Amino acid sequence: MIQISGRTKITGIFGHPVEHTLSPAMHNAAFKALGLNYCYVPFLVHPDYLEDAIKAIRALNLCGVNVTVPHKEKVMPLLDEINEEASFIGAVNTIVNSEGRLIGYNTDGRGFMQSLLESGISVEGKNVLIIGAGGASRAISYYLSQNTKTLYLYNRSKNRAEKLVQDLKKIRNNVSLIEDISSIERYHIIINATPLGLKKEDPLPFDTSLLRAEQTVCDLIYKKTRLLEEASKKGCVTLEGLGMLLWQGLFAFELWTGKKPQVEVMRNALMKSNK
Ligand code: NDP
Repeated sequence: MIQISGRTKITGIFGHPVEHTLSPAMHNAAFKALGLNYCYVPFLVHPDYLEDAIKAIRALNLCGVNVTVPHKEKVMPLLDEINEEASFIGAVNTIVNSEGRLIGYNTDGRGFMQSLLESGISVEGKNVLIIGAGGASRAISYYLSQNTKTLYLYNRSKNRAEKLVQDLKKIRNNVSLIEDISSIERYHIIINATPLGLKKEDPLPFDTSLLRAEQTVCDLIYKKTRLLEEASKKGCVTLEGLGMLLWQGLFAFELWTGKKPQVEVMRNALMKSNK
């Protein structure tokens, strides 16, 4: 256990629900390993009290917090400043209290890119498909479109994908909207950025019988989903979302403390609490 004292700096997470969050385990393990007098606390923040909770960051002198479902978008107008990537994404997952000034960041996209990198998956010059156009898709597409040959976007509701493609086209010229995902063989890398797969009975996001062994399949859900199991059977390289969760947390940790945490300490804590 972390030893709480009068000097302990407080970070945490605002969410509703928040009971299942894995973040306290990885951050508290990392604070302890570096001997930092910080702690990370889950805060169950009902949507009706979000504004009060944000004011409390200043009032209680919290160092900063993570923000999760359902507050990531609603929190934006309540902050003093939003950095560039969080503005593009339209969602904040990390708030830093900089001497009373609340600054919003989004570390999800960088987290995903780092998890690709550490898994040896290169997107350079590749055709990449993202399925889904919600917050997570917006976060990763901001970065993926910097390096891929072409970034393709597909979503159940076409208008949401259209809006994301329009926004990306303001800053990139290699983004394309896809209206059906029957030609799955066209893509080097396919990423599921929908919640399909969270539940056992969920259908697969696409027909996995079309996959070839040369393809890579990623799922942002942080467990080995049926999609990844099917892709493995086909011989594809696969990547689950746990690495993204780890690295987005690690980047938030750096923003709050200015220190580099020990990656393996955070990863072990995460894996232990994800069982
Ligand atoms: P959002 O609610 O913002 O977006 C969900 C997206 O999935 C939308 O495009 C939605 O389509 C689509 N979708 C939802 N249900 C279905 C369905 N039944 N069939 C087809 N499409 C569907 O969620 P997020 O973008 O925040 O999260 C998406 C996933 O990514 C979640 O599983 C989440 O757990 C994971 N995630 C993982 C992170 C990590 O660190 N590993 C970080 C953030 C998210 P429509 O527009 O039509 O509703």
